[in-house]
Amino acid sequence: MKGKVRLAVIDYESCKPKKCSYECINVCPVNRTGRAVAIEADRAVRGKPVIYEDACIGCGLCVKACPFKAISIVNLPSELEEQAVHRYGVNAFKLYRLPIPRDGKVVGLIGKNGTGKTTAVRILLGELRPNLGDPGRQPEWDEIIRRFRGSELQVYFQKLANGELRTAHKIQYVDLVPRRVKGTVGKLLERADERGIARELAEELGLKTVWDRDIRKLSGGELQKLLIAAVLSKDADVYVFDEPSSYLDVRERVRVARLINREVKPGKFFLVIEHDLAVLDYLSETVHILYGEPGVYGIVSQPYGVRNGINHFLEGYLPAENIRLRKEPIKFRKGVEAEATGKEGGLGRKKLLEWTDLKVRRGSFELEAEAGEIWSGEVIGIVGPNGIGKTTFLLTLVGRLEPEDGMVLQLGEYTISYKPQYVSPELFPKGMTVGALIREVNPEAAVPGSWLYIELMKKLRLDRLWDRDPRSLSGGEMQKLAVALALSREADIYFLDEPSAYLDVEERLTVARIIRRLTETREAASFVVEHDLLILDFISDKVVPILGQPGIRGHAYKPSSLKTGMNIFLKELGITFRRDPQTGRPRINKEGSYLDRMQKARGEYYFG
Ligand code: ADP
Ligand code: ADP
Ligand code: SF4
Ligand code: SF4
Repeated sequence: MKGKVRLAVIDYESCKPKKCSYECINVCPVNRTGRAVAIEADRAVRGKPVIYEDACIGCGLCVKACPFKAISIVNLPSELEEQAVHRYGVNAFKLYRLPIPRDGKVVGLIGKNGTGKTTAVRILLGELRPNLGDPGRQPEWDEIIRRFRGSELQVYFQKLANGELRTAHKIQYVDLVPRRVKGTVGKLLERADERGIARELAEELGLKTVWDRDIRKLSGGELQKLLIAAVLSKDADVYVFDEPSSYLDVRERVRVARLINREVKPGKFFLVIEHDLAVLDYLSETVHILYGEPGVYGIVSQPYGVRNGINHFLEGYLPAENIRLRKEPIKFRKGVEAEATGKEGGLGRKKLLEWTDLKVRRGSFELEAEAGEIWSGEVIGIVGPNGIGKTTFLLTLVGRLEPEDGMVLQLGEYTISYKPQYVSPELFPKGMTVGALIREVNPEAAVPGSWLYIELMKKLRLDRLWDRDPRSLSGGEMQKLAVALALSREADIYFLDEPSAYLDVEERLTVARIIRRLTETREAASFVVEHDLLILDFISDKVVPILGQPGIRGHAYKPSSLKTGMNIFLKELGITFRRDPQTGRPRINKEGSYLDRMQKARGEYYFG
């Protein structure tokens, strides 16, 4: 194996030796004469096997034999070894290369979950001292700085090692914060505020109304905005935002992007991890793409200009490193579409729902909806701010809320499959594994080799969690399971409230494709609440914009084409989009730019 090095990674969360009787050790051919895989009493992973990469011949028999899919064996070019930055432990994830922070610029990171984005930023923040790929020792800063000699990272690490860089980090899982920190929004912001701008930021982010609220009572979006305000009010040199747009609606995403951009100035470094490509595109100057095998290894690409970088990522090929990320490019629609989708009244299509003008009241909140109808095979994107009545609208359509005025004509018996916005452990029954839960909802989805299994379980990497207790999963894993369960269920109407939360770009597109296909083949209709406009564009036959005053009143427009619906929505927000000519993806125009002014003058907020 010339020019290659072997990487053996064991997922110790999944490895269950008591259940498999050490199948990996038994099948290993090297073990007959020597030792490639064995139990080491003195290791931290006591009772679990260790693979010696030097002795292992890479036959892959253990990979096949392990009933819990806990082992991965890959061969990598040996040149890469010189660029190893960190390995968490023996047989653990390994990161190669690092993103380059740029003075006075925003650097964006994209890539699948589990390829090391958070690891990379934690190293750049000084939260994690890199071991240069050898978990057995801890190199001094001098050695680390020498490793990056001649690159911009050398100067950066020198400053970091000398304590000259103050850092601020917006962590990924905002839901974890109330468990660790106590207090009200105001108290927390005042404590974080080193620049005397927290009140102003709270005002701009709409947090003033919750200023005295205990943080345990905040919604996901409010927590997200609180943490963003807290990080921005720190007087730091390096700012990292790990997924700043989760739980935020479109207007809030753009507002946050503008606030971050406003702080960008010489002497400050900004790094952003983001799966909403429209937001990442708007924020960043350069991007790095992380690739590799999730949970096994990750490689950081060269920096690309943001437009080319995102386009290369969507096309699935990185020219500078000659790396193919996937077989098929991801394409968006181009050109203007007609008002009709061809699904209304089309051959074999049936009308599933019809409603008159509606008025629905929930406490002091009131929703008005324009009359409309839904045909089988249609995917309807619902877009609007948080608290505007998206859930209320849907619950009324499916008959769970009674309208005060108007009526919904149910044109048959329906089964409904629903994925709520927030997913918590209580959503899953006790005492069932991930696999058992999927099998109960739809046995076909649990059969390896079936379309649903390949598309959902494999692509969302739920196959690796098959024997786990759903309640023990991470927030992101629980989201994926909830999406997979909702899509596995046979239903006439699907309602998916933010299926993208915590999913990476490829997973979002996988879910979007499955929704389209299931809606077609099951002759169902799907409603998808979506704040990621690339996904909304990709998935929707039609759009229902809901506008008004969050928490007070909402107005749901009738379902219309993507172009018409998005135009109504974006006009209200005062944001214009253009399409990238190469990939067809929607891009946010800079406020006041030539295109922004021209499109606003023409009333074309969403270029079709
Ligand atoms: P991303 O941010 O791209 O999702 P991460 O940097 O969070 O990726 O994680 C990359 C891999 O490293 C994951 O497979 C994760 O399980 C593993 N990992 C993260 N932290 C640790 C740790 N403290 N010990 C061992 N493995 C870890
Ligand atoms: P969205 O899905 O757009 O976030 P919802 O339809 O969930 O919005 O809620 C719209 C408004 O109705 C919110 O202001 C919310 O506070 C209010 N609301 C939701 N459920 C109830 C309820 N059970 N009783 C009173 N008010 C409610
Ligand atoms: Fe043994 Fe083959 Fe597994 Fe290596 S890949 S540990 S040689 S079974
Ligand atoms: Fe068993 Fe797989 Fe763990 Fe080996 S890695 S002990 S085969 S569960």
